[in-house]
Amino acid sequence: MPSTSRLTVLAGPTAVGKGTVSTYIRDNYPEVWLSVSATTRPPRPGEVHGVHYFFVSPEEFDRLVETGQMLEWAVVHGVNRYGTLRSTVEQAMAEGKSVLLEIDLQGARQVKQSMPEANFVFLAPPSWDEMVRRLIGRGTESPDEQRRRLETAKLELAAEPEFDFTVINDDVKRAADELVSLMGLVPHQR
Ligand code: 5GP
Repeated sequence: MPSTSRLTVLAGPTAVGKGTVSTYIRDNYPEVWLSVSATTRPPRPGEVHGVHYFFVSPEEFDRLVETGQMLEWAVVHGVNRYGTLRSTVEQAMAEGKSVLLEIDLQGARQVKQSMPEANFVFLAPPSWDEMVRRLIGRGTESPDEQRRRLETAKLELAAEPEFDFTVINDDVKRAADELVSLMGLVPHQR
């Protein structure tokens, strides 16, 4: 049964392809309002401020937390901070939009506390080996960082039962279409 909630939280282990699925949704499903997070991480090549993230300084992030502007936030992979801006999400929900948050597990747990009626979707890899292959293959992290992210991923995989639904990311288009139908929207014909 698709959810009737206006808010869907997509979480899952590192390197499972959450970013790829959300990029696909951003490019193909304008009817989904994809939240843009704030982060203290520096931009990667090709990333645009306000599109992929709001890239903010640690001081600016502190200010957003201290003034209660974060719906949730977390230190991800022990280094950088990431958070969802409360006002933008609440406004989109008030406008009746179908809102999608692509966040880490710690953030998903915080949203579950404050908005238990939201729709929680776990994105799972087809297998552990495939997840390791993707993390190493994308080549955006140093070997140390890759090791750290895989340690986190092991713990994160165990969180699947906390979620309402699981989508297996065996194919990005298929996974995105399944996610969209779980959001109560109609997947596009191709
Ligand atoms: P990346 O640095 O590869 O873009 O993202 C690293 C991790 O941060 C991903 O697992 C992503 O889901 C998570 N992330 C991105 N935005 C947010 C956010 O607003 N809140 C939380 N808690 N995690 C986020």
